[in-house]
Amino acid sequence: MAAEVEGVPVDALERHAELAELADEANWRYYVLDQPTVSDAEYDRWMRELRELEEAHPSLRTPDSPTQKVGAPISTDFAPVQHLRRLESLDNAFNDADLAGWQARAERLLEADPGPYLCELKIDGLAIALVYEKGRLVRGATRGDGRVGDDVTANVRTIKNIPHRLTGDGIPDVLEVRGEVFLPVAGFEKLNEQLVAAGKPPFANPRNSAAGSLRQKDPRVTAQRDLAMICHGVGAWEGGEPLPPTQSAVYERLRDFGLPVSDLYKVVGGLTEIGDFVEHYRQHRHDTAYEIDGVVVKVDRIPAQRDLGSTSRAPRWAIAFKYPPEEVNTKLLDIQVGVGRTGRVTPYGVMKPVVVAGSTVERATLHNASEVLRKGVLIGDTVVLRKAGDVIPEIVGPVAALRDGSEREFVMPTHCPECGTELRRMKEADVDIRCPNARSCPAQLRERIFFAAGRGAFDIEGLGYVAATALTAPLPPQEPPVRTEADLFDLKMEQLLPIKSVVRDQDTGLPKTDPETGEPKVVTFFANMNGEPSKNAEHMLAHLQIAKDRPLWRVLVALSIRHVGPTAAQALATAFLSLDRVFTASEEELAAVEGVGPTIAASIREWYTEDWHREIVERWREAGVRMEDEPPAVEGPQTLAGLTFVVTGTLAGFTRDEAGEAVAGKGGKVTGSVSKKTDFLIAGENAGSKYDKALKLGVQILNEEQFTTLLTHGPDAVRPPAAEEPPQEVAAAEVAARTSEPPAKAAADA
Ligand code: NAD
Repeated sequence: MAAEVEGVPVDALERHAELAELADEANWRYYVLDQPTVSDAEYDRWMRELRELEEAHPSLRTPDSPTQKVGAPISTDFAPVQHLRRLESLDNAFNDADLAGWQARAERLLEADPGPYLCELKIDGLAIALVYEKGRLVRGATRGDGRVGDDVTANVRTIKNIPHRLTGDGIPDVLEVRGEVFLPVAGFEKLNEQLVAAGKPPFANPRNSAAGSLRQKDPRVTAQRDLAMICHGVGAWEGGEPLPPTQSAVYERLRDFGLPVSDLYKVVGGLTEIGDFVEHYRQHRHDTAYEIDGVVVKVDRIPAQRDLGSTSRAPRWAIAFKYPPEEVNTKLLDIQVGVGRTGRVTPYGVMKPVVVAGSTVERATLHNASEVLRKGVLIGDTVVLRKAGDVIPEIVGPVAALRDGSEREFVMPTHCPECGTELRRMKEADVDIRCPNARSCPAQLRERIFFAAGRGAFDIEGLGYVAATALTAPLPPQEPPVRTEADLFDLKMEQLLPIKSVVRDQDTGLPKTDPETGEPKVVTFFANMNGEPSKNAEHMLAHLQIAKDRPLWRVLVALSIRHVGPTAAQALATAFLSLDRVFTASEEELAAVEGVGPTIAASIREWYTEDWHREIVERWREAGVRMEDEPPAVEGPQTLAGLTFVVTGTLAGFTRDEAGEAVAGKGGKVTGSVSKKTDFLIAGENAGSKYDKALKLGVQILNEEQFTTLLTHGPDAVRPPAAEEPPQEVAAAEVAARTSEPPAKAAADA
C-alpha cells in the first residue's frame, strides 16, 4: 500500500505541492509582472487537477491553496490600497451542465427561483476598483489579492472613458465601482508594433498588454496606450439615493452618472435564454472591439445576490461561462520558407505540434521577412499560437520572459530552398522575394500542376496535392514524369508505378515528417503493395481523359497566366472562341474585351513569348485537349443575345461558372464588373459592392428565382413595367440601409 501522511497518499501530497507551487509562480508572473510564461489553458489544467485532488482529499484544501485565493499578492512598485469591500473572482462553467448545476444550487439555497438573470460579456482585461467620493474620482486600484490592491490612481486618470467627476442627481456620497480595463484589439496590435520597433519584447495578448499598460510607473506611458474601461459591478454605495434593486438598474444608474457601461448585456428569464446568449457570442466572439473569453451570468435581483453571498473566492450569485481557449504556447522549432505557384517565397513557423481550438497545428504562416521582424519572434522561442475558430493559425508573438539566450534570428534565404536559384525581388517596390526559375523549380511546378488540376481549372479528380508532388518530384532515381505542364496529358501507367515521393503540406508546401522518426514521410501513391496500379492511379488517368474535353476558359485558367482568373478567362473564351485566336490577338484586341483590360492583355502576350509556354499549348493540343469552344448553340433560342450580365454573391443552384455558362448558352455575355453597359446583375447571398454599384447605376438586379425565370422565359419575363423603376433616392436609401448593418452581422457575412 502506498505511504500516507494524515490519510493522504504521498504521491497525491507531492503532486498537490508541486501544482500549488507552479500555480503560485504563474499567478505572480501573470498578475504582478504581467508576463505569463504558461498559457491560460495550461494554467486552467493545473487548477482543475488541484481541485480534483482537493475533492478527493479535502485536507489538502487549506486557506493558502491557490484554489482558495484570488489573484496574487500585490507588487512593491505601487502603494498598497485596502479595498472598501473585497473583490472576488468568478467560478467557471464550461458546459450547459455546469450552468444548470450553478442555477440549481442557487435555487436550492434561496428556496426560490433565482431568475431573472443578467447575461453580459466576460471581457479579457484586468479588474479595477474606482472610488468616487461626492462624485469625484479619488482612487483607482487593481484587484490584488482581493483585499489589498495596487494604487494606480494616477494611471487610471489617463484612461479617456473614465470620468474624473460624475454627473447627474442622486450620486452616492461614496461609490466604489468595479470594472474591467482593457486594450481594444486594434490598440494591442498597434502597441506591439511600436514595442518591437523600439527593440522591446511585444506583449503576448491584449490582456497582458492592458495590465502592463495600466501598471506603468510613469502615468505618461499609460496615457499613450488606448486603454478603456467597462463597469461590471459596484462595491460600496453609501449615501445619496438608495442602491437600485437589480444589477441591470444599477448599470443604468452608473450610465446616468457618466460611467462606461456595456450596451451588450441582456436580462433573461432562465437557462434556455442564457444558453442562447452564450451560443450567440460563441459565434460572434470576434465581432467585439475587445477580447472576450466567455459570458458572465448574474442573478439580477440584488436582495437575492445578498442572500446567496460568496465562497472564499467567488460570489455564488454569478458564474463565468468560459469559451475554450484559442491561445496556447508552443515551441517555435524553426522558420522555413515555402515557394508558391508564382515563385513567391513565404516564411512559415514550424512548431512543436499542439492542439488549439480543436485542431492540431504545427505550421503557421509568417507572411514575409518583415512580418517576422515585426512580430519579434526568434527561432527557439516559446510562442503564443492563436487559432480563433475556423481562422488560420497565427503566431501572436514570443514569450520573451522564457528566453535563455539560445534563440536565434531568422535570416531570409538568398536561394530557393527547392531549386537553389538565387531569389530576387521582381520589382523594386515588391515586399515579396521570388524564385525566378518558373520553368523547372519543382515547387512552382508542383503548385501549378495542383492548380491546373483544381476545381477552378481542369477539375481532374485524383490529381490532388500528393499526386502533384509525386508527379513533379519523385524520390531519386525516379525521373519526374511531369517536367512542365506540357507532360500532363501524356502520362502513362508504367511511368507512375515505380514512383515514391515525400508528402508535403498542402498549405505550406513544406515536407511532412514522421512524428516517430523525424524523417520526411514517404508514400507510394500510384501502386499498391503488390506493385500493381492503385485505385488512385487508375482514377487519375481516367479523369485526365475526361478533362481533355473541358470548355476553353478552363484551359486558359489552367495555364497559370498571371492575372487570368476564371472571369477574365470566360470573357476571353466568349470573345475569341479558340485558344489560337487568343494568342494571335494583338494586345489592343485583348484589352478591348470587356473584363480584360491592359494589364491582363500584356500578361497574356508576355506569357506567350516563352518557348516552353508555347510548347505546353502544342503538346496539350497533340494530346487531344479541346482548344475551341463551339459558337453559341444555334439550335437553342438565343434569348439573351446582346445582353450583358454580371454575377455576384452565392447562388444556391449554380456555381458562378455554371451561371455564366447558362447565360452564354443563350447568347448572353458575362463580364466581371458592373458598368452602365450591364443589363442585369444576378445577385446571390452575401452580394457586396457590385450590388451597391448596380443599385447606384440603376442596373436591374435579379435574385436566383428571377434568374431562373429569365433563363426559361427570356428577359421580358423579368423586366419591370417601365413606370415601376425605382427613383434614384430610393436606390440611394437602399444602399445606405444595406451598408449600415449591425457590425456583428456584417463581420459574420464577410
Ligand atoms: P477569471 O478571469 O476567470 O474571472 C474573474 C474576473 O473576470 C473578475 O475579476 C473580473 O475582473 C473579470 N470580468 C470580466 N468581465 C466581467 C463581467 N462582465 N462581470 C464580472 N467580472 C468580469 O478569474 P481570475 O481569478 O481573474 O483569473 C483566473 C484566470 O486567469 C485563469 O482561468 C487563467 O485563464 C488566467 N490566469 C492565467 C495565468 C497564466 O499564467 N497564464 C495565471 C493566472 C491566471
